[in-house]
Amino acid sequence: MSAPAKTSGKTSGKTSGKTSGKTSGDGDDRVWTVLDLLKWTTDHFAAKGLDTPRLDAELLLAHALGLRRLDLYLRYQEPVDPETRARYRELIGQRAGERIPVALLLGEKEFWSLSFTINADVLTPRPDTETLVEAALARLPDAEREYAILDMGTGSGAIALALANEKPRARITATDISPGALKIAAENAEALGLADSVRLLEGSLFEPVRGEFFDLIAANPPYLARDDAESLAPELAHEPDQALFGGADGYSVLRPLAEEAHGLLAPGGWLVVELDPSQAETVAGWLGESGLVGSEILKDLAGRARVVVARRPGAGDP
Ligand code: GLN
Repeated sequence: MSAPAKTSGKTSGKTSGKTSGKTSGDGDDRVWTVLDLLKWTTDHFAAKGLDTPRLDAELLLAHALGLRRLDLYLRYQEPVDPETRARYRELIGQRAGERIPVALLLGEKEFWSLSFTINADVLTPRPDTETLVEAALARLPDAEREYAILDMGTGSGAIALALANEKPRARITATDISPGALKIAAENAEALGLADSVRLLEGSLFEPVRGEFFDLIAANPPYLARDDAESLAPELAHEPDQALFGGADGYSVLRPLAEEAHGLLAPGGWLVVELDPSQAETVAGWLGESGLVGSEILKDLAGRARVVVARRPGAGDP
């Protein structure tokens, strides 16, 4: 990869071209400012087909410099030292070459205005899932009630911890089949000061909580179809398969989830599930067949059907 610190068309003086024989890092004495690096990298990322080249460049340079992204704007004209440029160059290669998502390179992602540590063991929290959190909160209106809440397949803990942060009185359980994911969820719970609010349990589907009843069950299960894997963004290769793919057709977790949720909901309790827009009608149909009522399909910020909600009939139901 050609990189900002190496000789490029922009450098003057030296004979440009083959620098591959050099072992001494940069090998040029040109001064690279923050702005120079951002411009170079934005062009490079754009040429490589990344969706948000400038934003990615800013986030990675800020990370290499140990700054927040917004701090860069005050430092556009400051030179960047060779060691930092070397670290940055490495990140550029990982982003554009290996297609590692920025959030994974940073080891961090914001969700529901909270900061989550992430790694390759967990699905990176996505803005789409904030629609689910919103839908769940709207169905937990009583500030005093100690709602029993389950986040099935919690991953980084994003849903469970966002709900815990909003509902301090709730009793929240989060499960995951992946021990690696639960470790990250526990770290996040600790870092957010919510460790006492969330019980973390390992196991598949509802297995760790059989015999319990919940006022709300939330889930962002793996729902992509492996049959579609070829057409998906290369970035997804860096997230855990078992958090992304619901079997060949995408339904291997959604199907049992839809069938079994009824048995774990308290009367009047809500199920709130994220899925692919193409799956919403099908899953809403299954929920109706399982005995849940009042199903609704909610759209994400991009206007796509993203969340299905339904509830177990309660005392007030006809
Ligand atoms: N929404 C994610 C994506 O399309 C998939 C998340 C999931 O399978 N739960 O990248």
